[in-house]
Amino acid sequence: MLRRLGLSLATLALASTGVVALAPPAAYAAQAGSEAGAGGDTLFPRQGDARYQVWSYDVSLDYTPVTNRLTATTRIVAVAARDLGRFDLDLEGLDVSRVLVDGEQAAFSRDGHELTVRPDGGLDRGRFTVRVDYAGEPQEHIDADGSTEGWVRTADGATALGEPVGTMTWIPSNNTPGDKARYTFRLTVPTGYEATANGVLVSQRDEGLTTTWTWRADDPMATYLAMVSIGQFDVFESQTESVDGRTIPIWSFTDVTGGDAAAARRLLPKVIAFQERLFGPYPFDAAGLVVDDADVGYALETQTRPFYPSVGAADGALVHETAHQWFGDSVTLVDWHDIWLAEGFATYAEWLWDARHGGDTAQEHFDDLYATPASGALWRPAPTEFTDAADLFGSPVYNRGAMTLHALRKEVGGDDFFRIVRLWAQRNEDGSVRTAQLVRLAERVSGRALSPLFRTWLEKAGKPAGY
Ligand SMILES: [Zn+2]
Repeated sequence: MLRRLGLSLATLALASTGVVALAPPAAYAAQAGSEAGAGGDTLFPRQGDARYQVWSYDVSLDYTPVTNRLTATTRIVAVAARDLGRFDLDLEGLDVSRVLVDGEQAAFSRDGHELTVRPDGGLDRGRFTVRVDYAGEPQEHIDADGSTEGWVRTADGATALGEPVGTMTWIPSNNTPGDKARYTFRLTVPTGYEATANGVLVSQRDEGLTTTWTWRADDPMATYLAMVSIGQFDVFESQTESVDGRTIPIWSFTDVTGGDAAAARRLLPKVIAFQERLFGPYPFDAAGLVVDDADVGYALETQTRPFYPSVGAADGALVHETAHQWFGDSVTLVDWHDIWLAEGFATYAEWLWDARHGGDTAQEHFDDLYATPASGALWRPAPTEFTDAADLFGSPVYNRGAMTLHALRKEVGGDDFFRIVRLWAQRNEDGSVRTAQLVRLAERVSGRALSPLFRTWLEKAGKPAGY
C-alpha cells in the first residue's frame, strides 16, 4: 500500500500520529500462536481460523453497478488440520441463504463478521468443500486508522480492495494472511461494463444482456491481495519477457475518467525488468494495473494487478506496488506485526529506483530520514512493536523498515545484501514468512551475528544511535 498523501517521505517522517504505543520487547518468533484466538494472527485475532487451510476459492459473482446489488456463490476447497465440530469463515454484511459442506446442507450462524458453520456430524481431518450462496449490497469497511477498504463504489461500478481485512465484504473467506490459496473469479456484469480481477484472463463470454469475465490466479494469494474492479474501462493487453524467458501477459484496465495512464503502462515492463535484476524473476504469470476512481487515497499491491486511484510516469507508487509483487505478495507475512517485510522492502525498492534514475541515493534517503528529531513519529512505535491497528501503515513500518534494510546493507556489504534479498524472494516464493526467518537467512549468508542490528532497528522504540 502507498498513501497518496504519504508520497513525501519527509512528510511521513515528521507526521505525528499523536499515539505512542510502547510494547514489551518480544523475542523473534515469539508471536507464533500464543496470543492468537481461533485465527492465526496476533493483530486481528478474530480474523481467520487457524484450524484449516484453504486450497482454492472459486468466486462466482453477478453484479449490477446501478443498484450495487450482488448475487454470489463462493466454492472453497480446504484441508482441516484435525477433526472439527465447526469452523469459521469471515463475511461482513450480505445475506447468506445456504451453506453446503461436502455437498450437504450445513447449519450456520453469524456473529459480527464471523460466519460459523456446523456441518452435520462434524468434519473429519483432511480435505473438505464448502459452498456459500449469498447476496445483498456489499459495503465499504472502515479501518482503525480511518481509511476505507472493502467494496468501494465508483461513479460507474466498484473496486474491491482488501488490506488488511476488507476482502470479507465480498468473499466468505479464511481472512488471515497466513492462509494463501488459488482463486478463480467469474464476474457477470451488464454487457458494456468491464470486469477485472487477479491473474490471467481465461474467457470473456457475451451472454446478451450480461457478460461473464473469468479470471484465474493460480499462484497462491493471501485474501488481502484479492481484487475485482467493475466499471467502464479502457482495456489494454500486451506482454513482456521475464528474465527467465517466460512471456508475461499484461492486462491493464484504466477508467475512462481517470486521466491518462499511458505513461505508467509504458513504464511497467521497465520497472519489472529493473526489479528482476535486483530481486530475481518476476514471481507471477500475469501483470498489469487498474486505475479507477475509487477515492480511497492510496494505491494497493493487489496481486498481479495493483490498483491506483491515479498514476503518472513519475509516480513512485508504480515502483512501490510492483516491488510488492515480490515482497508482500509472493513472500507474504504470516502475521500483520511483520508488515514491515512488505512495506519496508517496497519503500527500499523506491530508493533503489531513485538512485538509478537520477534521484537521491539510498544513503541520501537514509540520511534525510535519520535527521528526523528523536521526538519524531518515525521512531516509535518500533516497526514490529505496534499494538494499535491504526499504526499498521505508520511511518515506522515504511521508512524505519527501509532504513533497517539499508543498515543491513551497510553492515554486510552490497554483494551479500543483494544475495540475501534474492534468496529471500526465491526460497520463500509463494510462501509465508516471519521476521525471524530473514534474520537467520541474513546471518547464514553473511556469517555475521545480526540479531542485535535487527533488534535495534525493528524492536526498540526511539532513534537508533550511532548511524
Ligand atoms: Zn506498500
